[in-house]
Amino acid sequence: MTDMSASNISMGAPAVIPRFVKDDHLGHLPLFFEPRQENMTTSFGDADAAVCTWIVCATCKTGWPDQAVFGALAPSLYLANRDVVYGRLVQGKARPGRSAPFLLDDPNPAEDDLARQLVARIARRGRDGKLVVDLDALAVGNVEEKF
Ligand SMILES: [Zn+2]
Repeated sequence: MTDMSASNISMGAPAVIPRFVKDDHLGHLPLFFEPRQENMTTSFGDADAAVCTWIVCATCKTGWPDQAVFGALAPSLYLANRDVVYGRLVQGKARPGRSAPFLLDDPNPAEDDLARQLVARIARRGRDGKLVVDLDALAVGNVEEKF
């Protein structure tokens, strides 16, 4: 889009907020930051979502801000009552007529280490008590890590 700099008022299309797509991270280790329960209206009706300030995949070393998580995963996130909820993303058994639910499996010790190191590197508590996530720090540590 062209910048109409004549008026000094910048205009443009809305930002595209990339979405964390669960199917893309099966078997990965996503971290859900500050999940809170929020009732949202979707095309499927009202649902309780876990709204996260960030989702960071420790496997992909990528993060997504402001994400709403729906489905079976949602209550397991907001009821955990933690700053960061994490685990290995797996799919449970599908019930007839329903898609298989996404769940978080217990991380193994190596994954646990990875998650803790990652949080220590990218997150700190801000003055307002909320977590501040610095994804640039994620890129710095983006060297081949085997786990
Ligand atoms: Zn991933």
